[in-house]
Formats: sequence, C-alpha cells, structure tokens
Amino acid sequence: MNDRSIAYFSMEIAVEDGIPTYSGGLGVLAGDTLRSAADLKIPMVAISLLHRKGYFFQKIDHNGWQTEQPAEWVVNDFLSEEEPEISISIENRKVRIRAWRYEITGVGGYKIPVYLLDSDLAGNSEWDRSLTHFLYGGDEKYRFCQEVILGIGGVRILRAIGYNGIKRFHMNEGHAALLALELLDEEAGKAGRNFVSESDIKTVKNKCVFTTHTPVPAGHDQFPFELFSTIFQDRQDFIDMRDCLCVELANNMSEHKAEPGHIIPSNHVQGKTINMTYLALNLSHYVNGVAKKHGEVSRSIFPGHVIDAITNGVHAATWVSWPFRDLYNRYIAGWCQDNFSLRYALGIPPNEIWGAHMKVKKELISYVNREANAGMDKDVLTLCFARRMTAYKRADLIFSDIERLKNISKNAGSLQLIFAGKAHPKDQEGKQIIRRILDMKELLKAEIRISYLPNYDMRLAKMLVSGGDVWMNTPQPPMEASGTSGMKAALNGVPSFSILDGWWIEGCIEGVTGWSIEEEGKRETANMENNALSLYEKLEHSVIPAFYNNRDRFIEIMRHAIALNGSFFNTQRMLQQYVTNAYFL
Ligand SMILES: *Cc1c(COP(=O)(O)O)cnc(C)c1O
Repeated sequence: MNDRSIAYFSMEIAVEDGIPTYSGGLGVLAGDTLRSAADLKIPMVAISLLHRKGYFFQKIDHNGWQTEQPAEWVVNDFLSEEEPEISISIENRKVRIRAWRYEITGVGGYKIPVYLLDSDLAGNSEWDRSLTHFLYGGDEKYRFCQEVILGIGGVRILRAIGYNGIKRFHMNEGHAALLALELLDEEAGKAGRNFVSESDIKTVKNKCVFTTHTPVPAGHDQFPFELFSTIFQDRQDFIDMRDCLCVELANNMSEHKAEPGHIIPSNHVQGKTINMTYLALNLSHYVNGVAKKHGEVSRSIFPGHVIDAITNGVHAATWVSWPFRDLYNRYIAGWCQDNFSLRYALGIPPNEIWGAHMKVKKELISYVNREANAGMDKDVLTLCFARRMTAYKRADLIFSDIERLKNISKNAGSLQLIFAGKAHPKDQEGKQIIRRILDMKELLKAEIRISYLPNYDMRLAKMLVSGGDVWMNTPQPPMEASGTSGMKAALNGVPSFSILDGWWIEGCIEGVTGWSIEEEGKRETANMENNALSLYEKLEHSVIPAFYNNRDRFIEIMRHAIALNGSFFNTQRMLQQYVTNAYFL
C-alpha cells in the first residue's frame, strides 16, 4: 500500500467493457489513463463510485425518441468487496461507505487498484443507499452528495485501507474537488487545531493536481450556498472556508464572451454558489487543460490562475482492432510498450494497411446490417460519427443542406453514414438531434444509407473508430476541449474529417493526416452555415475523390494518421507529461 504515491479521483472510470460505470469521454479517458499507468508502472491508485445502475441503457423508440433504463450488471462478477468501512456525515447523518476493488493489469503485469465506493449498505437510509446508484442521476442535492462521497469518502477509504504514502491527489475534473477540504481537515487535525491555517492550505495545495475538462459552463459544477451548508451542517470548519475557497464571484465564466452561435447562458453563475472548479483551482499547485487550445480558453475563463495544457491521449492497445494489432505485431516490435514506435507505421506496405482495414470494415458493415438491417455496402465510403448527443457537438451539421448532400453522393461518389451516441436524460435538445438523424435516415434512404446504433459504449466505439473509412467530428469551436475518439480512429489508420477544435488543431495536417472543416481565417466566428458549406466543399473535392479515385493517396493518409497521430495522441505520452509537469515523482 505504501508504495502508491498518486491517488487519481474521477466521478467516472471506464475500467472495462462490461462495467457501465462511465458515461463517455471523461470516464474513458480515466480508464485509458490508468491502463497506461499500469503499463508504465506508475504507482497509482484510483477512486470512483460504484454506480450500481450505471449511467443508463439507451433505447430508441419508434418515434426516434431516446428512452433510458437502468443499466443492469452484476457487481460480484467483476469486483471484490474490501473489508474496511468508513463513514461520512451528510446532513448530520452518518452514512456508511464500503469500497469494491478492481485491478487494472499493465503489459508487464503491474497492477493498479481501482476502488469504487458504495453507500448501498444496511443501516443507511433508503436515500443514502441510492447515492451510488446512478452516474449523473438525480437532482442537484443528489449530485452534491455523490461528490461528498467521492471527495471526502474517497480520501477516508484510502486511509482506512492503509494508503499512507500518497503525495499527489489528482482531481480528474471538479467533481472530486471536495477531497481538498478533507485534506485540509487532516492537516488541521494533525496540528491539533479545529480551524484551517495558511500553512495547511500551502501543504494541501502542494499535494493537489487538477485537470479541467470543458469550456462549457454546464460542465462546471456549481451548488447553492444553502445546499452546502445543509449537507455540511455539522462541519463549521467547511462552512467557514466556503467563502474564501469556493467562490470567485467575478462571474468570469459568464463574462467569457460567447462567439456567435455559442451557447453560454449569461445567467449561469449568478447568485451565491459553490463552484467546484474554483475550489479545485484554489487548492491545486498544478492545473491543466486537456489540449493546447483548451489551455488557452481556460486561461481566459479563469484569469489570474496559472493553467498549463497536457493534450489528452488514448490507450493504444485498448483501441487498436485485431487486424491492426496483428499488423503492428509483425512490423513494429514492442509497440505496446513504446507507443512512440508507431511512427514506423510509415514502413508498413500500403496493401497490408488496406487489407487490415477491410477486415475490420467488413465486420462493422455486417454488424450494422445484422443489427439494424442497414443494407450497407463494404465498398462504399463510410463516415462514422459517434459521441455524446448534445447541441454543441452538432451531429446533424452534415444535414444542413440535404439537396447538396444528395447531389454530392450522387455525383462525386456514394456515401454511408453510421451514428451513435447517448443524450443526457435531461438534455431535450440532444434527444431532438437523435430524432432528426433518424428522420434523415428515412428521408434520404433512396440516396444515402444511414444507421443510428443504440447504446454507444466502449465495445461499439471500438467497432466504429476502426471500421469506418473516415471519422467525422463537427463541434462548435471552442467547445470541444479535446475529443478523443478521433485519436482512437488514428490508431486504426482511420483519418479524421473534422472541425478544427480541441486536439484536431494539433493533429490535423491537411491532406496528410486527414482533413479540416473550416472557413479560411474564420475559425471561431464561422456559424453553422459557413461550417456546413466548408464541410460539403471538402467532402466533394477532397475526401470523396481521394477515397474513390486515388486509393494510393488515401492509404498514404491512413499511414500518416497512424505514424504521426497514433504515435503521439496516446495516454502513454500524456502520462509521461503528467509525471514530469504535475506529479514530479
Ligand atoms: C472515446 C469515447 C467517447 C469520447 O469521444 P469524444 O471524441 O471525446 O466525444 C465517448 N464515449 C465512448 C463510449 C468512447 O469510447
């Protein structure tokens, strides 16, 4: 236990396919981070919640409307329950918490334990028992209590299990920020005080690392003062700290001027709120955004804070499909241990790259035909788009002008589109987008085959990022902090065709690693119409011709996606940067 020096806290972690304890990008990143930490033998331990009923199981009804069911899974099949038990105080009630253990094993056999906290224990009230059931479920109070369990319960469980050598606490997003309050409390306790001193703050800051993940205000948790005071009613020390640590009522986030077409509601941070992002910013010695551009945007949203950037990555071995794994094993010895060596993909013969791609593509096409009766053709250019369905991701951008789209498919070369993604249960706009895509499927069925695969998860993601010919992403800049699915595609030789935002600003070399969608010189002022025009132009004159008329060039782009982007946008490189810039082991 005492060999572990870094504790990684995340509200969601995608530990493996069958465990639905994640909703999307944040959780997959956390899982990939820990998988690479195990490969690199970085002495980490991780904390999250059990989420006994998952995020949700997505079904789409006959009207194209998403419905949600609890995700059913058998905890005992995957995890083992730990002995120690702790309790935390919520509204002056004692809530018992236990942890379930999962182990992530690296390429060399090194193991990273992941503890998933569970409040569903006898003796707790019905409501308290439900707190670790649904990821991002319930109301504001439910969410705040989950963060109390994660932050405060997480630190306590680590202590109870015997982790006493932890030097750094990494908060993956502000959800975990309350851990800093618990650490302050520990420091004050050690000094025999019942209040926190300046030196406690310094000590705690030195232990904390914070990664912020989104420029979208709704992604920064804020809770009313009254809620904080009610939940922590027996914790006068926390209530005393509230004003100095959690608030920065400059309303910076609402002053961050929205570019045309952006959706930053100006009333979002009015009133007295506890802002988890500020709490984390104020109590961390190192803060970073998740791509270079996101670092810049974060510095403008939070002036006065030093914010670095470490661009996200993905765990290579997890996301490479089997035909490419076989190929890399033959041509690039040791690529799993050393992801940088994927640069030698430039030496793999083009016909081998294409052969491997067609194997995965056939699997995907037969899957959509079998599951969704999609009638797709393995020789037709297939574009995939899969991510959380929410307004700023603009999954329906490609349908802005359907006559134009039909003409392109008819004259330049035919197209097939595969979509997937969940909308948050309360995101009505996100659900409308799903419905619109399904309407398009009907409307365009004579010209373009379209399929919407339900219940997007890691398993489906793996098929889509490898089996399509081109990976598409069309967010409203600068809302996509990083994005990681395009990185998974690159590892499978699938080029991206995307708006220049997040990681793609760094990863796109036009016509070499893929294609950008952007109006010359108008990145952040371009509206949806400009972006759609640029999408159609590029599709018609670059993407489709390369695929159908110049296959050698298309394969050249595939090879460069692997060699330039697969070799760099991985969690191995990312973690090495965390070690040198944030953890200083
Ligand atoms: C990778 C992944 C995501 C994140 O993709 P983005 O490109 O960041 O939107 C979301 N959900 C699943 C299941 C994934 O595998």
